[in-house]
Amino acid sequence: MTVEVVVVGSANADVVVRVERRPGPGETVLGSDTVLAAGGKGANAAVAAALQEARVALLGAVGDDQHGELLRESMSGAGVQLDLVRTTDRPTGAAYITVTPDGENTIVVSPGANSAVDVDQVEAAKDVIAGAKVLLASLEVPLPAIERAVALANEAGTRAVLNLSPVAKLSRQTLAALDPLVVNEHEAQWLMDGATDLTKLLDLGPKSAVVTLGSRGALVIEKHGTTEVESPRVTAVDTTGAGDAFVGALITQLAAGDDLAAAARRAVRVAAVSVTRPGAQASYPTRGEVDSARGMV
Ligand code: AMP
Repeated sequence: MTVEVVVVGSANADVVVRVERRPGPGETVLGSDTVLAAGGKGANAAVAAALQEARVALLGAVGDDQHGELLRESMSGAGVQLDLVRTTDRPTGAAYITVTPDGENTIVVSPGANSAVDVDQVEAAKDVIAGAKVLLASLEVPLPAIERAVALANEAGTRAVLNLSPVAKLSRQTLAALDPLVVNEHEAQWLMDGATDLTKLLDLGPKSAVVTLGSRGALVIEKHGTTEVESPRVTAVDTTGAGDAFVGALITQLAAGDDLAAAARRAVRVAAVSVTRPGAQASYPTRGEVDSARGMV
């Protein structure tokens, strides 16, 4: 199998229920009908990249169950290659999400099969990683697997991109291999112990960094300078998975040969379309939709 992009990351079933208010300890409240959706940061980014027409594979794990089927169908429907997705005896990862009328949510994640992604699985994909242009890693799978994937990419000259979400402590060696490290504002603050000058992210060691800034777009930080990438103005209805849409589009453009600033300019447009529609993967636009939305975004 040859692909341009390998995504190492999670696949989760999102189980969403709307409630009037959250139950207290020992209390039961009734909620809406359950909405079941394919999610997980790795699967989301892989789907976003496939819809932007990257040849992309997910390296991850699901269980031998209905949630696993849902994820496989959603990803293959978008065009993601599944050869590197292992079926394990753990249940598919799930995120149990409650949403209240104020739009706030609480989420319990059961990592399940995602916890089974290990160094051996990454080693087995060594040639696929070496043959790709870009490796994307995100952090809902165990850190040793992520760090090994980044090291293999680095050795082979495959560009390594890491979305440090949820935030975690990376080795200096892994940080130094990243081009770029992608974080949102909160993650950036955590990494820099509250410092506000985002250009200091490069002091942590990555070759470049991208900070996503919600409706304000993104900041591209490179050794030779910083580029502000404005987001198109849109009416946001649901920002779930916007960060994953952004990185999926970013890696697609990097694999196609764009420089980092140009890739980020396209990525904010893809993410902007995604926030105008409900859901995560369900909200991601195709390449053609982004092109034809030129007037709007
Ligand atoms: P965030 O994780 O909130 O920084 O969002 C990731 C990316 O999604 C941003 O860099 C934007 O490109 C896009 N995005 C998020 N929220 C909005 C919004 N309200 N309007 C337009 N784009 C958004």
